[in-house]
Amino acid sequence: MRIVLLGPPGAGKGTQAKLLVERLGVPQISTGDMLRAAVKDGTPLGREAKALMDRGALVPDEVIVGLVRERLRAPDCGRGYILDGFPRTAAQAEALERTLAELGLGLDRVLCLEVADEDLVARIAGRRTCRTCGAMYHVRFSPSVRDGVCDACGGETYQREDDREETVRARLRVYGEQTAPLVRFYEARGVLRRIAGTGEIPEIFARAIQALAAEACGTKSS
Ligand code: ADP
Ligand code: ADP
Ligand code: ZN
Repeated sequence: MRIVLLGPPGAGKGTQAKLLVERLGVPQISTGDMLRAAVKDGTPLGREAKALMDRGALVPDEVIVGLVRERLRAPDCGRGYILDGFPRTAAQAEALERTLAELGLGLDRVLCLEVADEDLVARIAGRRTCRTCGAMYHVRFSPSVRDGVCDACGGETYQREDDREETVRARLRVYGEQTAPLVRFYEARGVLRRIAGTGEIPEIFARAIQALAAEACGTKSS
């Protein structure tokens, strides 16, 4: 299954993507994680991306599109994937559509997680991520058992540099201007499903599964 998770920063895309990976057995492709790995490794891509990411701006479309195209060719993508944080602009969505068309494929579902801005700010401000395994925590809403230590692997949890409040506002603005229009783009293609992104994490996951299962009943229009 080829799925896109759409939604503003902090909506829970990464959290739900990890649950979907377990359930569906297809990989999560997170452009944010790929960029952070490049920054950590100090590659040319990482050096280009870092300043943009730190101020909440987007990395140029051609860079991201090249990165994703290559990733989609990997053997583990044969049965599908969960795209998390891509596409984020109309140009990226169009490039993805072309890439898939070349392979005779389409997207099965685009799930849009909806959360109010004030909740997003609170979620992002308390977000902690494991440096080793990428597990996600929140200091209040889903804390690790020991502060600063990942439950899953014992690694160190940290706060992302772009999760400071000033940057968060910039990212929300960028989302509204550049990414939110994709809701209509995918609505027009009949693949979009909106999901209420507030409530308990398992409850939201159940909504996501339901939105995916509807496809089996022949509602797919692509
Ligand atoms: P979040 O999960 O909070 O929405 P991400 O981890 O997806 O954040 O992205 C972090 C940053 O990485 C973005 O603010 C942006 O600078 C960059 N980035 C990630 N994905 C893309 C993309 N598809 N296009 C452009 N920039 C991206
Ligand atoms: P995104 O990938 O969309 O930026 P994340 O999955 O990283 O979002 O979630 C952002 C923060 O909110 C994390 O700290 C995560 O633990 C927390 N979070 C995720 N889902 C929920 C939820 N349903 N209720 C409260 N907090 C949540
Ligand atoms: Zn970990």
